[in-house]
Amino acid sequence: MTDLKKQYELFGISPEVYTFGEQILVSLQERFRQIDETAEYNQLKVIFAMQECSVSEACLLGTTGYGYNDLGRDTLESVYADVFHTEDALVRPQITCGTHALALALMSNLRPGDELLSPVGKPYDTLEEVIGIRPSKGSLKEYGISYSQVDLLEDGSFDYEGIRAAIHDNTRLVTIQRSKGYQTRPTLSVEKIGELIRFIKEIKPDVICMVDNCYGEFVETIEPTDVGADMVVGSLIKNPGGGLAPIGGYIAGKRECVENAAYRLTSPGLGKEVGASLGLLPSFYQGLFLAPTVTANALKGAIFAANIYEKIGFPVFPDGAQERHDIIQAVTFGSPEGVIAFCRGIQAAASVDSFVTPEPWDMPGYDSQVIMAAGAFVSGSSIELSADGPIKPPYTVYFQGGLTFPHAKLGILKTLQNLLDAGIISDDFRRTQT
Ligand SMILES: *Cc1c(COP(=O)(O)O)cnc(C)c1O
Repeated sequence: MTDLKKQYELFGISPEVYTFGEQILVSLQERFRQIDETAEYNQLKVIFAMQECSVSEACLLGTTGYGYNDLGRDTLESVYADVFHTEDALVRPQITCGTHALALALMSNLRPGDELLSPVGKPYDTLEEVIGIRPSKGSLKEYGISYSQVDLLEDGSFDYEGIRAAIHDNTRLVTIQRSKGYQTRPTLSVEKIGELIRFIKEIKPDVICMVDNCYGEFVETIEPTDVGADMVVGSLIKNPGGGLAPIGGYIAGKRECVENAAYRLTSPGLGKEVGASLGLLPSFYQGLFLAPTVTANALKGAIFAANIYEKIGFPVFPDGAQERHDIIQAVTFGSPEGVIAFCRGIQAAASVDSFVTPEPWDMPGYDSQVIMAAGAFVSGSSIELSADGPIKPPYTVYFQGGLTFPHAKLGILKTLQNLLDAGIISDDFRRTQT
């Protein structure tokens, strides 16, 4: 133990902060055990899928050029379909990010005159421009696709009557965002998503139910496609890439939905047949293999952070005891200094760019300054230890990731040390008045 304390001292973490962290950890043993059990279940799910699909050494080789007969790419897509229990999947480095994957799924499965419905309130920021909520070139709106939205009720539950009224004759696709993203509504459990889909399909059986699965993969033992979703969509530089995938996105679902997406991604007539995997397949396979345990580590980090800051007296969301359905943790500091000290702590714990000091800046598309901490092996990867926060009231920081729990723990202890050193937390580990 003394040795471990010394290791932390190398990072400027005092024995008091270390001990405080250890006390919190003792209370989390049972939670962590449950998370390990989920990871174990999902690990077996992934290995079984790889075995069922006869993943071989040859699958790790890539193609160039057109990418015809890319065995590794095609097999990987079968593995994803197997993991998500769907008819088909599209998993490509040509899908550049989560927003692109979602835009692709929407644009390929909607036609002019159709309507898109979000029954869970405002979607993720970047989708506002995809849909045309904020005017944008190439939006669904420009193509004559309308949008309607039903907000969640005050208590976070579904507005069933509002949803019933918002399902029109031309409602073709329903988009359900699993994770809260950077909002303060609760993240939806897979079970809740299932209830919502059942309700919607009773009213209109032919509507396509798509779930934005970002940050949710492998947090539970079931996925939205196990409870009726026609499509799940996500990013490979979040959970399913396991920290190894350097780019990419996926769409898994009904054959027709995936086919539509493939014809849109490449070209009508070509679909899934083209799209070279280059040299990326080993990272996609191995990343998926690691994804269940990496997600578990990130979850443990989020819960550790929630319990630390809750104990000190800051509002945390979700709270320390709440069940988790994604890997994002919000902590409200009530002052710009708190947000800044936290992000600098995360940055200082990074393996890459630890010597950089993050500063708030005017990021395009935001109405306030934003500070970000990210010392990642894969640029922008938010399954790696990262944090960001807008510099505006209530001064909340969003924290996520950590490929290993020891790294997440180091990051969180470092944030705590920074807040202490800045006088935002007092020596008896209580929030000081701000
Ligand atoms: C991250 C995220 C996206 C967008 O993904 P990018 O890769 O950043 O484009 C969409 N929806 C949710 C819920 C997300 O968390």
